[in-house]
Amino acid sequence: GAPLATTCAIAAAASNGVLIKRPDTVERLPAVAVVALDKTGTLTKGEMTVLDVQRMNDCTWDETQALKLAAALEMKSAHPIAAAIVSRALGCIGTAYGSETATVKKVRDLPGVGIQGHLLVGSDAKVHKVLLGNSKALDLVNADAHSQEQFASFQEMHMNDTTVALIIDGKLQFGLALNDTLRPDSTRFIEELKGLGLRPYMLTGDSECAAKHISACAGLDPGSSLFSMTPDEKTEWVETQNAAGRKTLMLGDGINDATALAVATVGVAIGETGAALASQSAAVVLLTDKLHKLTQCIRMCKYAVRIER
Ligand code: ADP
Ligand code: MG
Repeated sequence: GAPLATTCAIAAAASNGVLIKRPDTVERLPAVAVVALDKTGTLTKGEMTVLDVQRMNDCTWDETQALKLAAALEMKSAHPIAAAIVSRALGCIGTAYGSETATVKKVRDLPGVGIQGHLLVGSDAKVHKVLLGNSKALDLVNADAHSQEQFASFQEMHMNDTTVALIIDGKLQFGLALNDTLRPDSTRFIEELKGLGLRPYMLTGDSECAAKHISACAGLDPGSSLFSMTPDEKTEWVETQNAAGRKTLMLGDGINDATALAVATVGVAIGETGAALASQSAAVVLLTDKLHKLTQCIRMCKYAVRIER
């Protein structure tokens, strides 16, 4: 069995909502030098709200109809963006929404980009190809310069927010802007990480502006915010740190970052949602939304390791 100090550290962590799944984590945590943090659902609450829905110039769709399609597709996604779009659609379509059933087929998650599917709604007998995602989604449909410009200026209007393009049948129709809020103790957590001599970075699939806004609010140093990253790029980044001899802790919500959690020296999944718990790749699961319970746990593991030596 594990030494007494290790067992005690694991028990104390558990009582603080930090579930250490593997005993060797107690030795690994104090050796960590770099901390990679996901943005959405990790540094932020992941409870997003749609702030704005805007027609793009060449839009041919009615807003309500377009939102119905968007919501029907997002029902298939676990991303915080999806929940926000579904609730926005419910809010403006109301009870009528439930009475019309949508058939959603060929759904594809496009990690770091968005989601796409083939949809059939209500009496309209035509199948529509719907794609929701960031500016990379526009590249996917080879959007013309005009659409690219329109979406870019919509993004400029919403500098600090997450922006999503709603593309129907290959054409940009609407721009959606969403905001998220920082977890209440994110700044304290970043400060404590630095106090422990660790270097925190934020890794996100979101755009540059949204990334920089959140990282500045959280107290990360300029240059520590890495944006527009696909899940594979996050994984590669962690692997590069490992290869350079810098042991890395990766903290994420398990949505789109499971492989990065798996390659990290210590993978930590956050959230009571299924994604975190189901994340086999994490050595630690945070069952609390208080991020500083993790820094507390690192300090405790350092102490336990010292006692054992
Ligand atoms: P983060 O690194 O912030 O947690 P993700 O890697 O999960 O972000 O997603 C990156 C980006 O991909 C999002 O900012 C969004 O633009 C787009 N995206 C992902 N999932 C969806 C979705 N279900 N609907 C629309 N856009 C999405
Ligand atoms: Mg995330």
